[in-house]
Amino acid sequence: MDKKIFWEKILKQLSEDIPRPSLMTWFQNTCILSIKDNILTIGLPRDIFTPWHQQNSRKKIEKIAQGLGEEILKIEFIVDGTLENEGDSRVSDILNLFPSQKPKSRKLPKIAEVKIAGGILSRQLNNKFQLSNFVTGPGNRLAHAASESVAKSPGKKYNPLFIYGGVGLGKTHLLQSIGNEIIRTHPNYLVAFVSSENFMAEFIENIRHQKIDKFREKWRRADALIVDDIQFLVGKTRTEEFFFHLFNDLFDSEKQIVVSSDRPPSELQGMEKRLISRFSMGMIADLQFPELETRIAILQQKSQEMGVILNMKIMEFIAENIHHSVRELEGILTQIVAKIDLEGEIPTQKSVTEIIKNVNKDLRIESNHIETVNNSIKTMNDVVDKVSKYYSVTKEEILGSNRSREFLVPRQVAMWFCKKKLSQPYQKIGSFFGGRDHTSVMNSIKRVEMLKKTDAEFWRNVNKLRKDLGF
Ligand code: ADP
Ligand code: MG
Repeated sequence: MDKKIFWEKILKQLSEDIPRPSLMTWFQNTCILSIKDNILTIGLPRDIFTPWHQQNSRKKIEKIAQGLGEEILKIEFIVDGTLENEGDSRVSDILNLFPSQKPKSRKLPKIAEVKIAGGILSRQLNNKFQLSNFVTGPGNRLAHAASESVAKSPGKKYNPLFIYGGVGLGKTHLLQSIGNEIIRTHPNYLVAFVSSENFMAEFIENIRHQKIDKFREKWRRADALIVDDIQFLVGKTRTEEFFFHLFNDLFDSEKQIVVSSDRPPSELQGMEKRLISRFSMGMIADLQFPELETRIAILQQKSQEMGVILNMKIMEFIAENIHHSVRELEGILTQIVAKIDLEGEIPTQKSVTEIIKNVNKDLRIESNHIETVNNSIKTMNDVVDKVSKYYSVTKEEILGSNRSREFLVPRQVAMWFCKKKLSQPYQKIGSFFGGRDHTSVMNSIKRVEMLKKTDAEFWRNVNKLRKDLGF
């Protein structure tokens, strides 16, 4: 059978199983390259497509191909960039094969009040946050798996569950989805979801009206207590103390407790030791900024939720130019959707660049048109300046002593540039970077050398910076 016709037959069947936006994303400019020795070789236009296909389409394609009477024992994917050339006769016109239906409404789901018996406490849950629409990758898989486990058997397995990570990396999303999932699987459970800020406000209100016993009783009824952003309680001694006792009561009666924070328990300086040690009794999972592939998958998920289809090139472009949080990623997407809605404009690299620049003015856009070579980097100060801008941290944070990853990585990268590009002695680098000794500088540089070999995403960033620094 003609390879192209065969591929289109496969695509038709796949379309019954794979939603249209995914199909449009991952099957653009694809084709069958060969069918030989029972191996069906599929051509993909970009590297970035391969992991998705390995995971989501390989088995399906194999089954469909066999169903169509071909003796296929293996599916292989080969990346061939020329497939993106306009008018390549090997590829099928996917837009033509699957013409769009009426555009879907793009309303975001409303906040639904989850009503359960006496369930006043469950009102804070928003059902747009689900475990199933949380996209996983290496940097958040553990936290997601732990959340699933907790939602499945609250109070039984990981108790408490402590999730931490920087701003906009999905803490609230995960905590909300745990709440939603518990209510779904345990309809009689009372789930209490609260931000620690609101918790404190309510606490103070109740003290004022001398209703503290009632307040305590209310929270004690919870079968699961979910508290977002616990770091807010640091130094709020009385609320902390109240929370500590509530924690113990619930824990002793095997109720599930889930807590999120912007840092690990050990770094909650100023919080009572006994509370920190409670947090460390169960499971601690962190959320990291997702690597490129996961960022693209998130964009894809979100655009699907918003009912728009974005071209893969644009998605890749957005994902490459966001360096800090998933929230930023979503912000860009929302603006693009608004632009499409208001102006009927199809996003181009240029218009997306404008949007990204508006969202984050300091952001350096990776684009051939805008890139400028900079030869003015002469001192360690210049290096730190550039590196801090690139990673959106301050100079003080780079030179300071906070060892959380968001500062540590830029600090190590900056030291590495000072050594490799400015050939400064270790000692001098050390004293410039807040008076560190030379072994600490050596270790940082070794670490960068190691990451260079093991972490492609990290290296991609350093390389971009290298260009920016004019080296
Ligand atoms: P945090 O509470 O850590 O500051 P949020 O949970 O509010 O972050 O996440 C910010 C936005 O990013 C939310 O809209 C959330 O749905 C989205 N988000 C974050 N991580 C993911 C992910 N892995 N998959 C899907 N959406 C995500
Ligand atoms: Mg949050």
